[in-house]
Amino acid sequence: MTPAERTSITGLILAGGRSSRMSADGAKDKALAEFRGKRLIDHVFERFAPQVGGVMINANRNHDKYKGFGVRVVSDAIGDFAGPLAGLHAGLSASRRPYLVTVPCDSPFFPEDLVERMFDALNSTGTQLAVAMSGEQPHPVFALVRRSVLDHLSEFLKGGGRKIDAWYDTLKTVQVDFNDDALFGNINTPEELEAFDKGLPPPPRKAKPRFRRDATTDQPDAPAAAAIDVTDIIPDTPAAAGGASAPDSLAALVSCLDAYDPNALPVSKVNEVIRRFVRRVDGVEQVAVRAGLDRVLAHDIISPINVPAHDNSAMDGWAVRASDLSASQSVALSEIGAALAGREFVGKVSRGECVRITTGAVMPHGCDTVVPLEIVKVEGKAIHIPPGLEAGTNRRFAGEDLARGSAALKAGKRLGPAELGLIASLGIPEVRVRRRLRVAFFSTGDELKSVGESLAEGEVYDSNRYTLYGMLARLGVDFVDMGVVRDDPALLEAAFRTAARDADAVITSGGVSVGEADHTRHIMARLGEVVFWRIAMRPGRPMAFGRIAAGDRSAILFGLPGNPVAVMVTFYHFVRGALLHMMGRDDLDLPLLSAISTEPMRKKPGRTEYQRGILELRGGSATVRTTGQQGSGVLRSMSEANCFIVLEHDQGNIKAGDLVKVMLFDGLA
Ligand code: AMP
Ligand code: MG
Repeated sequence: MTPAERTSITGLILAGGRSSRMSADGAKDKALAEFRGKRLIDHVFERFAPQVGGVMINANRNHDKYKGFGVRVVSDAIGDFAGPLAGLHAGLSASRRPYLVTVPCDSPFFPEDLVERMFDALNSTGTQLAVAMSGEQPHPVFALVRRSVLDHLSEFLKGGGRKIDAWYDTLKTVQVDFNDDALFGNINTPEELEAFDKGLPPPPRKAKPRFRRDATTDQPDAPAAAAIDVTDIIPDTPAAAGGASAPDSLAALVSCLDAYDPNALPVSKVNEVIRRFVRRVDGVEQVAVRAGLDRVLAHDIISPINVPAHDNSAMDGWAVRASDLSASQSVALSEIGAALAGREFVGKVSRGECVRITTGAVMPHGCDTVVPLEIVKVEGKAIHIPPGLEAGTNRRFAGEDLARGSAALKAGKRLGPAELGLIASLGIPEVRVRRRLRVAFFSTGDELKSVGESLAEGEVYDSNRYTLYGMLARLGVDFVDMGVVRDDPALLEAAFRTAARDADAVITSGGVSVGEADHTRHIMARLGEVVFWRIAMRPGRPMAFGRIAAGDRSAILFGLPGNPVAVMVTFYHFVRGALLHMMGRDDLDLPLLSAISTEPMRKKPGRTEYQRGILELRGGSATVRTTGQQGSGVLRSMSEANCFIVLEHDQGNIKAGDLVKVMLFDGLA
């Protein structure tokens, strides 16, 4: 939890009960009962306040006593000690922060990282409520909710509901298990007060938490069950594997689209159909972290540690207690030791003392601020510090980068160099990744020759298998190059069947235009369920899509046009995202930027155009121009370009100086 996240949470101490078991007449307010030298609520307050952005107290009497904390005190809006839900309602109504967490006034032993763990659980599961548990035992008054549940709670109370469990049952809930009953020790009677006062139970300690989602809270977008154990894997159930549920029939899917016209299909609709039809493949492998490069993570990586592990210094200088500093005059502190990175200062820093500290070193106990080297004056062991330094300056909090128990990486992430380093920084040696996708491809056309053969009149070298090879290799799939397949029904059918049997997806080029004299379209249509589209785009109008089968195996089919540039455009804009979806990736779309066009461009509304462009910085601004000749057979234009200029469906002519969208060919990722 970052400091900013902490600020987003109101902490509400529930002290609004009747305390009926404390004394027969209920006259004693147990929050104010003496316990180990202070009042019960003092213990709770001290433990709670550092965990939240601000504290509020819910109380229904003795307000003057609670006001002594200098925080807001709120009473129940519904009368007669209606219970913790009424208190929660009062707190939520008064709070302006997005989250609210409750603790009862009579449980002084709760963990020092209660809120942090509940917050992480709530946010990594996307639920509405986090409830603390110890094993199977729930502790419903230790709860974190989003402020957005207020209206829902008001309705519940209006309907006469008072029971906290009954209301919780209506929410999407995550249970956060702290594994230790003693942390939630609760004082209700004078006997309990006395027993605990004598030193029972064991002092509070931090326990390893686990959290799980209720079975009742499944929702399609939320991550699947997340346990803290880093080796836990999201179960590969069919529901999880499917992403958006894929209908069985392509015909059924396209019939659900409004204004579906296969002969003038907008680019956005093409992707909608494709992404709803394809499914993520099953299969997970466990590999060493380095072998995970460019693979897709199959599970959430939950941080087993806080990063950084301890509060530490962001500068070289002196660690001090902010309360020793002055806003108006310089102060002299005496240096009592040093804290170095990897070698912490043991001992306590008392008033008037300070400790020399290096960047990254653990903050000495008692210190909260680091005074940088550059601004102090040193005279032997006397360290002179100028006025005006704010408390907390140059201190980094434990868990500031990554809190223990939070998701460092989510399933679906492609592992790049940064991810490998991040995983290693958590001490994790192996990861589970999705199996590689298998993609077969071949070219069709009687005019095609492979490199190494000689060309006769009217023949061309097959270049599409080379661009496809390059584009597929970069996606990190396993591929099978099936060569050029002649326009012969038996050969074509055999090629499609082999591909359907061996691969998850098959990509062909050529032979899908209407009015083609060849057999490709007929055989595609015969071997499975395939739609033939004329897409409202340029280049790359014709395309076939569907699934072809051989026995009990099948593969997704992308029948791309033959033109070399059209192959690349349709691959990048339709095939790539679909393959990534099948691979389990969570990022399917290439990023778009915007740039100033340095030249006018003719563009008809009603189709998407992908011009080959050169993006460059001119006069401090991103500008783009076309590579000139934009014919769909001109591969050279792709080579000269460094981006697509994406002229969107409804866009008309472009004037010089207009902003246009561009999509870069290459990136560092
Ligand atoms: P098609 O879509 O089959 O009508 O092909 C359109 C154009 O692209 C024709 O000029 C083909 O010769 C050319 N073409 C088709 N396949 C390839 C290929 N694999 N390599 C290079 N050019 C091709
Ligand atoms: Mg052809």
